[in-house]
Amino acid sequence: MARPDYLICLECESEVEDFIWRDGEIRRATCEVCGNSDVDAFSLPEEFEPEDDEEDVDDEQTEEDDLEEYDEEDEDSEDEEDEER
Ligand SMILES: [Zn+2]
Repeated sequence: MARPDYLICLECESEVEDFIWRDGEIRRATCEVCGNSDVDAFSLPEEFEPEDDEEDVDDEQTEEDDLEEYDEEDEDSEDEEDEER
């Protein structure tokens, strides 16, 4: 993995350019805003804003709407058939 331009401080969500990157990992990072220096408390920009998660949320909402509409339509169609016959 290539060295990112900056990291995201998970403590204050600031962009941190002062860090040491080696072998695809964060070796040392210091946030100038909040003083955080724990490498586990920094995230790569691409991991901090995952677009896939937003798409998953939309899918769950759509499934719930479909189930509600299906139940209502099913009951209505049964009633109409009984009246016609
Ligand atoms: Zn910070």
